[in-house]
Amino acid sequence: MVDVRGVHKSYGPLEVLRGVDLTVRPGEVTVIIGPSGSGKSTLLRSINHLEKIDRGYVAIDGELVGYRRSGDRLYELRERDILRRRTQIGFVFQNFHLFPHLTVRENVTEAPISAQGRPREEAEALAAELLEQVGLSDKADAYPRQLSGGQQQRVAIARALALRPKVVLFDEPTSALDPELVGEVLEVMKALARSGTTMIVVTHEIGFAREVADTVVFMDAGQIIEHGPPGQVLDRPAHDRTRAFLSKVL
Ligand code: ADP
Ligand code: MG
Repeated sequence: MVDVRGVHKSYGPLEVLRGVDLTVRPGEVTVIIGPSGSGKSTLLRSINHLEKIDRGYVAIDGELVGYRRSGDRLYELRERDILRRRTQIGFVFQNFHLFPHLTVRENVTEAPISAQGRPREEAEALAAELLEQVGLSDKADAYPRQLSGGQQQRVAIARALALRPKVVLFDEPTSALDPELVGEVLEVMKALARSGTTMIVVTHEIGFAREVADTVVFMDAGQIIEHGPPGQVLDRPAHDRTRAFLSKVL
């Protein structure tokens, strides 16, 4: 479902991604762990083409993200086509990024209506279904500022699902939450995983990784140092750098 091949990305002289390869199969959950500054957010943003990569490519379900191929060269797509392909990828940010002037329902229907041209009634029916799924049916008419952080993040998850994406990317979705609100967001994410959603999750929640991940990826200094099932990477890491990181977060 997701194919990341030989991805390099620099900011000026700083090489942030140094040849990243990652494959995520349909229905799989991949959890990415690693120290701050190792390139985890940049990798997610590159998958979504929020960052332009310098080398390599990203494909979702066999379709290049942001580019078309002609011979052996890649050409960047027009903005309109980039936006259309980006609708195949849901993104959940650390700080929710809800539209503050829109209600919960409007936050969830906005993209299906404006990016996909769906009729309002259809988008609202889908929003009702998704808000029920994240346990927020009673908040449809509320504004984000009236909700707790955990509730806002659950709205953000419903919004990400509203485009019926092929994969959902989560960038530290619980890091900005008070500790007592982390659980309700993780529960929603666990249910999503069980229902067969393809997910890539950057998180420091090792318990979540252990319970839900099919694959755990350890990143350091712009590279994937090791990857494998949680029992292998978390309990019997092959690399000193993984061990050193885990000893700090566990
Ligand atoms: P992580 O999510 O693992 O903490 P990031 O991908 O956010 O790491 O950042 C990796 C490195 O890239 C860091 O050194 C960070 O300072 C740098 N970086 C991230 N975004 C930018 C940017 N827009 N401009 C310059 N440097 C950046
Ligand atoms: Mg980050």
